[in-house]
Amino acid sequence: MFVRAKDGRRDRRLLPLCIICNSTPPGGLRDGIYLEKAFICSICEQEILFTQRQEKRYGEIVRALKRLWSNV
Ligand SMILES: [Zn+2]
Repeated sequence: MFVRAKDGRRDRRLLPLCIICNSTPPGGLRDGIYLEKAFICSICEQEILFTQRQEKRYGEIVRALKRLWSNV
């Protein structure tokens, strides 16, 4: 669930990778939440909170979460 920084600096901090949008938020670790071993960025966290059940995006989020829980 982690990717290394790609900027080539000596700083080798591990950066979180969001399980839903598959990207690293600009704020790094502080810009999101952890569920079990997985990271969800603050943008997707807001989407989960505010997406309505009938929206297509809701199904995509639920599928991503199911993938996560079936791997635990
Ligand atoms: Zn995300």
